[in-house]
Amino acid sequence: MRNPNLKCLLCETNNSTKENSHIIPKFMGKEIFKTEKGNRGFVIGTNSAHLPPQITQDSPKESYILCPSCEQYISILETYIATRFHSRLWDKKFSQQFGTFNNNGGITWKVCNEIEPAVFRLFIYSIVWRCSISSVPLCKDFLLNKEEEERLRLSLLLCKYETQIELLSNISKHANEITLPEFLLLPQNLLEIKQVILYSLIHQ
Ligand SMILES: [Zn+2]
Repeated sequence: MRNPNLKCLLCETNNSTKENSHIIPKFMGKEIFKTEKGNRGFVIGTNSAHLPPQITQDSPKESYILCPSCEQYISILETYIATRFHSRLWDKKFSQQFGTFNNNGGITWKVCNEIEPAVFRLFIYSIVWRCSISSVPLCKDFLLNKEEEERLRLSLLLCKYETQIELLSNISKHANEITLPEFLLLPQNLLEIKQVILYSLIHQ
């Protein structure tokens, strides 16, 4: 059980006194929980489908995993993506910032012209890392191996700045150092198949 006297899992230096850290960024869950009667959602698990679903108002939170300074850093990453990406993607005012492409199969995708790719990368790392270190029920089976988890932690830590301005003005120095090889996240019993898939991708 975590407590505030343990070290922060990100910096491993300060005490993890921060309470109620979101594992999935709050802005990503906001729309899911919104109903006419306020925030409301249901937790449904494949191993508890026979039980009445648990009611929840927010995405999972956990106390004593981070120190206030690391929580602040993660919130800088989240604010950048929430304001520059999440809230602009479907807003016509900002359509110039997102190129739209269609492929022959009829799938449309958007390219973010003005998002700093390294910050987007850190944002994704921060979610995957939090899911791996968290012990909330939703994430308890989401485990990276220790080596992968540590690589994400060190990449995040390398770019830890106290303000968004500092982060953006220094991020280019770190862009190459935080680029990890792409990997697929699959259940353990599909690992052999994953190797086959990766092999065929490399050799195409
Ligand atoms: Zn910390």
